[in-house]
Amino acid sequence: MSRGPYASLNLGQAAGDDPGHVLRNRTRMFQALGIPEQGPVRVRQVHGTRIVTPAESPAEALAEADGILVRAGDPWVAVSVADCAPVALVARDGSHAALLHSGWRATRGKIAGAGVRMLAERGIRASEIAASIGPCIHACCYLVGPEVAREFSKELLKPHPGGVALDLPLAIARALEEAGVDVSAITVAPECTSCTGSAFYSHRRDRGVTGRHWALVHLARSSEST
Ligand SMILES: [Zn+2]
Repeated sequence: MSRGPYASLNLGQAAGDDPGHVLRNRTRMFQALGIPEQGPVRVRQVHGTRIVTPAESPAEALAEADGILVRAGDPWVAVSVADCAPVALVARDGSHAALLHSGWRATRGKIAGAGVRMLAERGIRASEIAASIGPCIHACCYLVGPEVAREFSKELLKPHPGGVALDLPLAIARALEEAGVDVSAITVAPECTSCTGSAFYSHRRDRGVTGRHWALVHLARSSEST
């Protein structure tokens, strides 16, 4: 429904788009995926490293957090992104997962490692985790200032015509490896949100006037057919 800089499936309600259009976009998406009308469990994203359970973030009082830990049978969960990386950590047996919002601050704080540790507390070994880093801004477009660059190791910084760029997906992958996730179990979406045509909203490219994507996770109960 959304038009102009928000075209077309903007799911972000606080981004300046027509609220009615956003609601209708969400309804269409819920219907397409079979998500109940009340929508997925969400959090108030604050660029930190806190990860909560669905019960800790009720719709009437969203938790300030950047990750949600779920077990099979829990409600759908979602994080909102436009350049920041959505990261899904899923136990190979489908019993538990974590969905994370990892911009540079949460990446610096190693939210991905925090997710691995919380899954470990539920009995999931790092070797049993499959990780997916979704579309986000890549080093081709993520020019950063010295105040950001100094927070990351040299390996994660790439030359850029304008200075130095941060390789955000690589930084997240390295944090996952440090936490024990096998490198072969980490999938990085190849798309850069900023320069992959008009397929993605990009906060950086569009100077803040843009929509939001959602990344979603739902683990069916083992008795449900999926
Ligand atoms: Zn790019």
